[in-house]
Amino acid sequence: MLVAVDLGGTKTRTSLIDKGRILRQITFLTEPQKGRSYILKELFKSIDYVSESKKIDAVLIAVAGVTDGKSILRAVNLGFENFKLASIVERKYKVPCFLENDANAFAYAEFVNLRKKDSSLQNLVGVTLGTGIGAGIVINGVLYKGLSNSAGEAGHMTIDSQHRKCKCGNFDCWELYASSGFIEKQYLKLGHHKLTAEEVNDLYKVDKSARKVISQFAKNVSVGIVNLANVLAPQVIVVGGGLSNIDYIFKPISEYFRNHAFPTIRKDVKILKSSLGRNAIALGLSYLYYDYFVKKK
Ligand SMILES: [Zn+2]
Repeated sequence: MLVAVDLGGTKTRTSLIDKGRILRQITFLTEPQKGRSYILKELFKSIDYVSESKKIDAVLIAVAGVTDGKSILRAVNLGFENFKLASIVERKYKVPCFLENDANAFAYAEFVNLRKKDSSLQNLVGVTLGTGIGAGIVINGVLYKGLSNSAGEAGHMTIDSQHRKCKCGNFDCWELYASSGFIEKQYLKLGHHKLTAEEVNDLYKVDKSARKVISQFAKNVSVGIVNLANVLAPQVIVVGGGLSNIDYIFKPISEYFRNHAFPTIRKDVKILKSSLGRNAIALGLSYLYYDYFVKKK
């Protein structure tokens, strides 16, 4: 029995998992501005709630940031740097705790799931769209981590030259143009009330401004996806995260891809919407735990 936590910039979802099945789950608002001790308190409450004092084998935590497995080295949207989260959890629950980047967990979940249907699947990129953008890269069936576990920080690829400053310290990063914040700011700029990205999406059919903003968002998502595909030429790119619920974006992304990706790959790379939805990250954590920890023991 495992506890898997998806610690996101906006929401945190804690799940109890047994043999790849989610048995119990709770979601809370992360509110990173309230600081580490607040997040820890809420995190512990959620772990206690889902585990109901049952014996658990490990606590697995996916974070929107770079981690070495034990510490969060840098999480731009959570405001964490060198946060030794795993040892705190291990001291409290007396079980091993592992951290993983959330987009890595997402990509691995999609990879394991899709490979059940297609055993020739070897190379996949998973992209999560939400408060920020993450990417996980599976090469030859193995999660690619890169130097300092920093591979897949695709949200910080430079895709424009408007000199917009990003929280990472650089300018014009992909996630400034293709995250929930982009949709919210652009809609506000068109003279409307402040709405969430979800609410703007709900207005797609009835509001010209909402359509305009969502179309621009889809185009900006497409630019980054083409860049990733041109570098990695994966068999599949899976798009997930909260904003992948905007169904209107998939047709324009596919069209843009067929016209702009490198000619030798533009017809063959499959671009799919996540089929695992909001539970992908929790499932990915449990698959990684078995494939990379239990099997190697
Ligand atoms: Zn950045």
